[in-house]
Amino acid sequence: MNVVVIGTGLVGAATAFALHKAGITCTLYDQVDLVAAALNSNGTPIDVDFGDTGGSVLLAPSATRVLKSLGLFDEVVAQSSTSPHVHWYKMDGSAAVQLDVVPLNARMEPDPELQAPLQILRSKLHNILLKACQQAGIRMFMGKKLVRVEEQAYSVTAHFADGSTAKGDLLVGADGIHSATRRAIFGESSKSQFTGVLGYIGVVDLVANNIKMNETCGFYIDRVKKELVCTFRVSEQIGAINIMTFHEPDPEETEGWRPYSDLPKHSARLAELIRGWGVPNHVEQMIRQAYRISPASIYDLPDLDVYHKGRTVLVGDAAHGMVPNAGLGLGTGMEDVGALFELFKRLPGQKDLHSVLSIYSKLRVPQATANANRSREMAKQYYSSSVLGPSFSHFLLRAGIFAFNHNLMKFYSIFDCPKEVERAIASMPKA
Ligand SMILES: Cc1cc2nc3c(=O)[nH]c(=O)nc-3n(C[C@H](O)[C@H](O)[C@H](O)COP(=O)(O)OP(=O)(O)OC[C@H]3O[C@@H](n4cnc5c(N)ncnc54)[C@H](O)[C@@H]3O)c2cc1C
Repeated sequence: MNVVVIGTGLVGAATAFALHKAGITCTLYDQVDLVAAALNSNGTPIDVDFGDTGGSVLLAPSATRVLKSLGLFDEVVAQSSTSPHVHWYKMDGSAAVQLDVVPLNARMEPDPELQAPLQILRSKLHNILLKACQQAGIRMFMGKKLVRVEEQAYSVTAHFADGSTAKGDLLVGADGIHSATRRAIFGESSKSQFTGVLGYIGVVDLVANNIKMNETCGFYIDRVKKELVCTFRVSEQIGAINIMTFHEPDPEETEGWRPYSDLPKHSARLAELIRGWGVPNHVEQMIRQAYRISPASIYDLPDLDVYHKGRTVLVGDAAHGMVPNAGLGLGTGMEDVGALFELFKRLPGQKDLHSVLSIYSKLRVPQATANANRSREMAKQYYSSSVLGPSFSHFLLRAGIFAFNHNLMKFYSIFDCPKEVERAIASMPKA
């Protein structure tokens, strides 16, 4: 079987590698144009979307399970650090609430290696995945912006903006939140919607700037003013910070997360902004001393009832909107990859393709929609204050985290790809 994968992001690269491991020939296509980037750079370092962009991503057991099944876990561990706690604070760093993530995960994840979540720079994880694809001999074509999908009786064709085409037995849309694949198969009503939230993602050398960070993952919240700052310790040396604000208009409907070229201007501006919000000094220093800041407009998607149509299937952000408030976005995308991997390992034939895609949608839509709703609920918790005031809302958060820490409530469920797939195949009507 020949598969055309649109998008070489984290989920697209992981999908191509997984399908290759399942014995399927994949080719990756991405709109990123290296030649145009080099021509536009005027001799300065080249920033392309899969270059050194973004900040840190959190890998919960659902993601690390899949990476382990693909044989990439050890390399990921070597490049990341564990993140055993999450802290929530008021904006000034007071009233800490602590979630102990390892015992929480241990209730759902029997493998001790996977119980602590990992923090890794997005660019490092991307590099591991792209290198794995390259070493596996998976071909990648750049400067290929998908504009149209055309289905034939026994194949599907991707049409690119440069006039070229790629034909396959299956097309995987891994082209992110603004997915052209999704719009091609489900129409413009499935377009992503701006949430009103702007994020600024900074990465900082903690050691070189003598910044002491006690938290491994911290959320600083002002519910009344709708201001949120998140901090992540990526390693002993590197920290990442996200500043989320409703206060500024969407600048240019930017689809990329390209770093600011005028770093001193924006680091000073953002440091002054959050100083005004009253953050602790180390948080202000993290953005003031950042060596890279990428602005990102936060989008969400209308929930889809199904993730495939004909010979086209969606994975990752292309399939499910996931506001980045609960650290579930990448994990959910990795579960998509794990589900396709397990399905194609068991049902690799052409004749099974429609069953594979139906099972995939049946399994993934409820899980991903639940995760998307959980992320939206977290956003509501951060950005709203009860009629009894922000302190009461913080108290409610404390009560919720107490319930999670003491096993009185489930935080989320881990999608067990092999088990779920086995069960779904077993319940298929026999031919
Ligand atoms: C540059 C960048 C930086 C990010 N930084 C962070 C971060 O710091 N922290 C965090 O939590 N999340 C970050 N994210 C988001 C996070 O990585 C994703 O939410 C998640 O990993 C889902 O990945 P994905 O592969 O589904 O989509 P994406 O990572 O968005 O990848 C989509 C890929 O598809 C390509 N593409 C898009 N449209 C087309 C088209 N028409 N034709 C061909 N190719 C197309 C894009 O160029 C991109 O390579 C970032 C995303 C990007 C793109």
